[in-house]
Amino acid sequence: MDLFEYQARDLFEASGVPVLAGAVASTPEQAQHAAEKIGGKVVVKAQVKIGGRGKAGGVKLAENPSEAFEKAKAILGMDIKGHTVHKVMIAGAAPIESEYYLAILLDRAARSFLVMASVSGGMDIEEVAHKTPEKLAKVHVDPNEGISADKALDIVRKGGFPSDIEKAVADVLVTLWITFKDSDATLVEVNPLVKTTDGRIIALDGKVTLDDNAAFRHPDHEALIDHAATNPLEALAKEKDLNYVKLDGEVGVIGNGAGLVMSTLDVVAYAGERFGGVKPANFLDIGGAHQLKLWLMDYQSFSAIQRSSQYL
Ligand code: GDP
Ligand code: MN
Repeated sequence: MDLFEYQARDLFEASGVPVLAGAVASTPEQAQHAAEKIGGKVVVKAQVKIGGRGKAGGVKLAENPSEAFEKAKAILGMDIKGHTVHKVMIAGAAPIESEYYLAILLDRAARSFLVMASVSGGMDIEEVAHKTPEKLAKVHVDPNEGISADKALDIVRKGGFPSDIEKAVADVLVTLWITFKDSDATLVEVNPLVKTTDGRIIALDGKVTLDDNAAFRHPDHEALIDHAATNPLEALAKEKDLNYVKLDGEVGVIGNGAGLVMSTLDVVAYAGERFGGVKPANFLDIGGAHQLKLWLMDYQSFSAIQRSSQYL
């Protein structure tokens, strides 16, 4: 599950990652009220689960609460790359001197965790990786060892951070690791991590993905689910403990076990090519042995009825 930025900010604050004050609002009035509470200059930020909000006009500075009202009014309802803005976050505005990048993620291919650090933050990190790969340090982290203070300092130095802030950035990295590990995340990304003109290091934008497979360890994560965005069919299936994913095709697929259903999807899609691109309509795994047994019992009683009906 991907978190909204305001949820990531809350998680950071609770874990000790340095952030600025922030509150979520779904109306311009609430935005104004939040700005009054925070005081001073604020930023109004669209809460959508997609990057590049700044470039799309979804991040705006407001000098005072009434300006926060106006900016929130403009941003709420906006469409950013197909995502409608239903909420904004009002956050304290930081006087930025430099923007950096820090991330910890699960590197599935390497069966390990990966830290990425760069002094070229604020912009699209894919672009940095593509155009100036030497400016993006990538260091694997052994899950059993984690990120110690020494390891963090080593990574920060590889990332080319100025020496006067490397200790502060390393501290943030260690805290981010603890946050990542304790919340069972697969991604914790800070872009930008900023140095303010008065020398503070602050996480200004956070992106967090939690591992749904570990949800049973975190009953509190349930409250983070964005029910409004969940497909109603998928929600219904989840309620009934079924693994259902809505797809765009026409052929319904039902099966026992994820592997079998996946293979069936492939076979259907492959065969469908001969019929003008007919595709699977869904993924539905009704589970393993237990469910199968129930189905067989149903089937057996059905056949028994069918057989006996011949004599009626
Ligand atoms: P994204 O575009 O979706 O990644 O949204 P961000 O939260 O990263 O904001 C985009 C850009 O807006 C940042 O890189 C900053 O340059 C700018 N920005 C965000 N918050 C602040 C702030 O508090 N003060 C100032 N001056 N700029 C900000
Ligand atoms: Mn960002």
